[in-house]
Amino acid sequence: MKNALHEFADLAINIPVDRLFTYGIPADTAKKAEVGKRAFVDFRNKETVGYIVGFRPEAEAQGIKEIRSVIDDEPVISGELLKLTERVSLTYLCSYGQAIAAAIPGVLKKGKVSVKSREKHEEEKMPAPSYPLALTDEQKKVLESVFKKIDMESYRPFLLHGITASGKTEIYLQAIEKVLNKGKTSIVLVPEIALTPQTVERFTSRFGSKVAVAHSALVGSMRYKEWQRIRSGEAKIVVGARSAIFSPVRNLGLIIIDEEHETSYKQEDVPRYHARDVALMRAKLANCPVILGSATPSLESFYLAKKGELEMVKLTKRIDERSLPKTKVVDMRMELATRKKVCMFSKVLVDSIERVLKDGRQVMIFLNRRGFSTYVNCKRCGLVLKCKKCDSVMVYHYETRNLICHYCNFRMPPPDICPKCNAAYMKYFGIGTEKVESEIARLFPQARIARMDTDATAKRGSHDRILGEFKKHNIDILVGTQMIAKGLDFPRVTLVGVVNADVTLNLPDFRASERTFNLLTQVAGRAGRGEDGGEVIIQTYAPEHYAILAASKHDYEKFYAQEIKSRKELFFPPFVHLIKLTLRSRNEKSASDAAGSLKEFLEKNLFNTEKEKSVDKIDIAGPAPSPIARVRGFFRWNVLLKGRNRTTMCETLRGALRSYRKPAGVILTIDVDPMSM
Ligand SMILES: [Zn+2]
Ligand SMILES: [Zn+2]
Repeated sequence: MKNALHEFADLAINIPVDRLFTYGIPADTAKKAEVGKRAFVDFRNKETVGYIVGFRPEAEAQGIKEIRSVIDDEPVISGELLKLTERVSLTYLCSYGQAIAAAIPGVLKKGKVSVKSREKHEEEKMPAPSYPLALTDEQKKVLESVFKKIDMESYRPFLLHGITASGKTEIYLQAIEKVLNKGKTSIVLVPEIALTPQTVERFTSRFGSKVAVAHSALVGSMRYKEWQRIRSGEAKIVVGARSAIFSPVRNLGLIIIDEEHETSYKQEDVPRYHARDVALMRAKLANCPVILGSATPSLESFYLAKKGELEMVKLTKRIDERSLPKTKVVDMRMELATRKKVCMFSKVLVDSIERVLKDGRQVMIFLNRRGFSTYVNCKRCGLVLKCKKCDSVMVYHYETRNLICHYCNFRMPPPDICPKCNAAYMKYFGIGTEKVESEIARLFPQARIARMDTDATAKRGSHDRILGEFKKHNIDILVGTQMIAKGLDFPRVTLVGVVNADVTLNLPDFRASERTFNLLTQVAGRAGRGEDGGEVIIQTYAPEHYAILAASKHDYEKFYAQEIKSRKELFFPPFVHLIKLTLRSRNEKSASDAAGSLKEFLEKNLFNTEKEKSVDKIDIAGPAPSPIARVRGFFRWNVLLKGRNRTTMCETLRGALRSYRKPAGVILTIDVDPMSM
């Protein structure tokens, strides 16, 4: 929208203040001022970048300042994205300016663009071109439904529930091709670019230079260049992690979210949006279909599909009629009873590894815990070493000979004597991936072994290198955390071993069972993707748990049926929406007091009238400390809101918080639909 020579402009500014700021427009910039452009303004005596979001003929307040200058010749953000970011700010309770800032490249936030010309783009390895594959009957049926909606050019969300290796990616590719032929664009979200190189490669090999990969490893100027390629229409397909949902594509025809259940789609900083929900908002604005794809859909999405709010399409068979891997659950309590000691690997697993190695095939060993020993304990006084700044145990890392806090990365050399009782009885317990790797090396000295976790891949490029070596079969056994659970496709892997399935099961989180089921199903799906079939061995101390049983039988429906019952009983999502309000302070009492008074405040102010109260009940739970009560020196206390209607909850909370005054020295954060407690 051009400025029809109004005298005032409303600007959104990237600060945590929930309002717009009105500035006068000097006569000489009146023509240049336009919605979606940035302007320099004087804000709290500092030159600040603001985003023009509207105009007004008059302003009520006196002494209004004037815009210093309009920065852009063309808007940096389109009308569609302005609407989208406004919705994001209303849904996730952040300011409009914060939401807009999340949608544009970093270099534009500072008000200047500094594209360094000497920085050369890393030699882009273009993979060999690929062509559409022949489809199975199931795939054809799914595509028929999707094509119909693409032709109608109307909003329609699909849930593509397809088991591992059932050919979901080919569905995405052919749907994109259809959209491309209509002259429209597509956005594809993947959980993390660096962790899904094989998926990303399939898009670039099919569509070549029409693809822009929104890679977080790109430095600022390169990112800006890709952003310009997308904005100009040169790139028609954007593949990226969650923030790619804000890509400045025009004429959007399709959004795809691969592995829609992944928690990495939720941003942990302001704005705390969930890319899946933002994708639905954007598709509504653009009138186009969305495909949410997963072998293990989130409870939320599956529930919506059952209610008919998402259209369910299914792939129930693996490509080429390959069978799902045979799965064995090993009860480690029995192992303990017969062998009279705690052991890392059951006999079944060791025998299977041996056999697979003899056959010249490959093995993946999965444990979702980094480090060597996972806690250090004094045998005399019982002290467990904890981080100085967090309520979490220190984990021993053999490679760096350090104790490391996995919450704040604090490091210290392991003490020889107990810091509490001075006894020299410090013992190391628990198993992490480093220890698994060394034990595997001891048991199979002839095997070539590598490890993949955030420690082993900290160096740039090492992730790709390890996967490359594994692909070439220069590695026989790959040990890893959830990094090896996602999307990898190695036909020679015939055995997947899960060292301890219970790691995620015991987390203090209502999603613990769901995460366990997802991880086990995903990691099991790495086995038997080639012609040789596959086998999965799951070690656990809780073999009767429904998440583990259902995962071992590849039975999503059965897992869903159990889990949805307990969510309903406990009044948790998808039956309600949660809003988590966290109060942080370096002083424990300040944090808990502030949480207590916030709860009282909300009880009084969340609703103004009796009528409102009865319309949509909001439960206020807490205050309670976070499961990890202290992180980086800050004590954290939560107040939790539960309600059925997210829009009403957000509106009421937003209104109430306008008159809330938080105590000094305390930080308040609001997380709508939080992924952790
Ligand atoms: Zn001691
Ligand atoms: Zn720490």
